[in-house]
Amino acid sequence: MEPILIKDVLIMAENTLRGDLLIEHSEFAGVGEVVRDKSGIVIDGRNYAAVPGFANAHTHAAMTLFRGYAEDMPLMEWLENKIWPLEKKLKPKHVYAGTKLACVEMLKTGCTVFTDMYFYAEEIAKAVEDCGIRACISSAFFDFFSEDILEESMKRVEKDIKNLSNRKLIIPAVGPHAPYTVSLEGLNRAKEVAEENNALLHFHLAETEKEVKEFEKKNGKKVVKVLDEIGFLNKRLTVAHAIWLEKEEIRILAERGVSVAHCPVSNMKLGSGVFNYRGMLEAGVNVCLGTDGAASNNSLSILEEMKFAALLQKVYRNDLEFKAEYVFRAATENGYRALKLRGGKIEKGYIADFALYNLNSVSFCPNHNLLANLVYSASNSVVYTFVNGIPVVENGYFMGDVEKELKVMEDARKAAEELCQ
Ligand SMILES: [Zn+2]
Repeated sequence: MEPILIKDVLIMAENTLRGDLLIEHSEFAGVGEVVRDKSGIVIDGRNYAAVPGFANAHTHAAMTLFRGYAEDMPLMEWLENKIWPLEKKLKPKHVYAGTKLACVEMLKTGCTVFTDMYFYAEEIAKAVEDCGIRACISSAFFDFFSEDILEESMKRVEKDIKNLSNRKLIIPAVGPHAPYTVSLEGLNRAKEVAEENNALLHFHLAETEKEVKEFEKKNGKKVVKVLDEIGFLNKRLTVAHAIWLEKEEIRILAERGVSVAHCPVSNMKLGSGVFNYRGMLEAGVNVCLGTDGAASNNSLSILEEMKFAALLQKVYRNDLEFKAEYVFRAATENGYRALKLRGGKIEKGYIADFALYNLNSVSFCPNHNLLANLVYSASNSVVYTFVNGIPVVENGYFMGDVEKELKVMEDARKAAEELCQ
């Protein structure tokens, strides 16, 4: 890939500055200093803000196919009567089409990497590579406390992890679903496979009050205590939700270096509960942001997620000094930290995952405070998104081509119709 030079752009670095941005060998090679006579692609940046790419730290990408399919129902009724019957009919081609739609949606809202948990890892990987986004793909499994199912699942998981390894845009992860669907033995095995293959771990934790109460009744101890005792908590692990935890449990997560994917919209929509954001920050937990799947969100926009995350703390916890900066960091550098990637910041030597936002859009006018505009008012103002230094959204369209974008939607529509028939 030839060098890319963005001239005279507003750069959202540690301190916002105006200058040139140079990308070479998939990295930021120059930030802010004026570059002259550089061959390669040159973009006039005068009307743009360069912003680090977002990391969507927890989603089920292919669930875009179920967007708006079942609304306004209690969680279990929703899962049992609506979502699970559809998921039974899922074929690899549906997952491919749904994941592609998700990738395009995320790229167009400035997201450059996502952590996924769903079925058919290879189809997800194909969609990710075809779209040019980066992803941490978890090979998801349940064992429902059965040894036979566990053995069968682990064979598939190990195979998935091998297939997902050594691919440029993909980070492999083992994805035991949740404490109420996977045995402690299953979690142990997941951890071992992750260690043996240098993969990450992705898991749902303490999403509902009922689930943690039942766990405690069954095991006689708090869920985080038990997970810690079996050595499941470590730096490879990202847990989604983490709502129903006590102070001591939060402290343990911080101490073990576990990352947490906070998913405020899904938590609000399913009435799951309210995240203790301040408690997590004070304990030093690496808090990231996730959208969860489109069936419970219904959008995959981290821009929206930042706003909801901040507002939820203000209204529910009366935390009026909760800063926009917290959610911005969560969405960018913390998300990349969870994936062990040198990204999520516009700094020399960091991977060039970022987006250019149109400052000539109403939601950025006036621009007193770029961070506040991004968190609280930016809507669809992404003009370019770069992943690994390559533009994958150009002039506001996926691959710079409206026809390509329409084709992704057409394929997803067909897949959704087939499933919902
Ligand atoms: Zn989830």
